Amino acid sequence: MASVGKSALDSAAVAELRAILGDDAIVSRPTELKVYECDGWTIEKSAPELLLRPRSSSEISAVLKALHRREIPFVPRGAGTGLSGGCLPVGAPVMICTSRMNRILAIDYANRRVEVESGVVNLHVSNAVRERGFFYAPDPSSQMACTIGGNIAENSGGPHTLKYGVTTNHVLGLEIVLPDGEIAELGGPAEERLGYDLVGAVVGAEGTAGIVTRAILKLTREPEDRRTLLAIFADVGAATRAVSAIISAGVIPGAIEMMDRLIIEAVEDAFHAGLPRDAGAVLIIELDGIAAALDAQAREVAELARASGAREVRLARDESERATLWKARKRAFGAVGRLAPNYATQDGVVPRTRLPDILREIAAIAERHSLKIGNVFHAGDGNIHPIVLYDERDADETRRAIEAGREILRACVAMGGSLTGEHGIGVEKMAEMPLIFSPDDLIVMSELRRVFDPELRANPNKVIPAPGSCVETAAPRRQTAL
Ligand SMILES: Cc1cc2nc3c(=O)[nH]c(=O)nc-3n(C[C@H](O)[C@H](O)[C@H](O)COP(=O)(O)OP(=O)(O)OC[C@H]3O[C@@H](n4cnc5c(N)ncnc54)[C@H](O)[C@@H]3O)c2cc1C
Repeated sequence: MASVGKSALDSAAVAELRAILGDDAIVSRPTELKVYECDGWTIEKSAPELLLRPRSSSEISAVLKALHRREIPFVPRGAGTGLSGGCLPVGAPVMICTSRMNRILAIDYANRRVEVESGVVNLHVSNAVRERGFFYAPDPSSQMACTIGGNIAENSGGPHTLKYGVTTNHVLGLEIVLPDGEIAELGGPAEERLGYDLVGAVVGAEGTAGIVTRAILKLTREPEDRRTLLAIFADVGAATRAVSAIISAGVIPGAIEMMDRLIIEAVEDAFHAGLPRDAGAVLIIELDGIAAALDAQAREVAELARASGAREVRLARDESERATLWKARKRAFGAVGRLAPNYATQDGVVPRTRLPDILREIAAIAERHSLKIGNVFHAGDGNIHPIVLYDERDADETRRAIEAGREILRACVAMGGSLTGEHGIGVEKMAEMPLIFSPDDLIVMSELRRVFDPELRANPNKVIPAPGSCVETAAPRRQTAL
């Protein structure tokens, strides 16, 4: 991890922030700050010295102006559901949380747009427009809690982004408070824009460009109908071969999600969703679109799954059966909490056809390190989420869990994949960046970051490793080769 700068957060600075925000927007007691010491990447912990809960862009602007004058770094936070340590304070004593900025500001059905504050919870956007037959397509499994600001920072995906695209495909405009306090508007409601794609540069910047305060998002029309299938396999190899078979046959389902046996058992223990405990793997396959086409498509997909080795394919008979399947999938991470005191969720990508190979490699890595690793992931995208179980009270097991995660990422890269499909780099994967990017690539990224944040005070010590601070690799692969 990069070195941590000395905090300049003295009592005069705290008094100035109190004067801007009022007492009720400031958390300073160490016991209360402990709540904010990590996100879903619990291997590293570090509480902020001060937590601020502003209510508006102008309050954030005044706060960042004060911090800028005093040269104090800060870290933005949404709901803290990130899985790569993105909102871990590392040399940033002040954490700024957007949870109070949770208003949906305007809905424009005619142009299929919605404008929201960045602290709005993802699912609340779809809830607000469902009655009129629309939804917000990017649907991370954490959508009941995570914020739009966090989604934008991580360029989040979700089960249905296989067909509909990830966050960056659904963001038209942003309001961002830059690290010196200036409020900037990027993009806008129009679909096509001239000039450099600055919205695109901020989406996925992991909080290093400033604090996103508002967003104009695209709304998507609800499909006319859906068919949701559960395909049951003896092993993960057959399940993942079915994924390639379906997509290469020209069918693009709304979602294809895979769970292996360890995850199935955890989900069944927790939720009794009716998944077969004796299966090696299941796929949840959702087809959506024009109602008239779906039955034939469902038959075709079931045939393809059977031809790849599915012993049974079940069709959800009604909305309640569909909801049970999705509840099982979306709460799988929570269910894993029953299996071990701690777990680390990895997030790598491989070309879809290499899924059987990477799952074999993950099993070998688990055996080598005497660890249990479960798999639940967005199989259609080739985006794997191995869940490494460990007990943080056992230092050696924790070390092995970290090493296993690194080996999985190296294997993904070796198979032509990438370090993250959706959870971001954060602190977790910074040392692995040279596996993909050359020193020149990293310098270019740093220069782009400095356009927004010349002094590197927004979420410092994240994403881009400091020169010489991380693993050297024999042959970094240039991004252009991906
Ligand atoms: C059970 C579970 C399931 C998950 N499933 C998925 C999934 O299917 N797909 C997926 O992509 N992710 C998933 N995640 C990861 C996580 O939910 C996403 O990364 C999410 O977008 C984080 O949102 P958040 O509001 O919690 O952000 P936080 O964790 O608070 O922050 C994440 C990053 O965003 C930055 N940030 C937050 N708000 C702002 C802002 N307003 N302006 C600038 N920067 C900001 C932070 O500094 C940090 O770097 C899952 C997590 C959990 C715990």
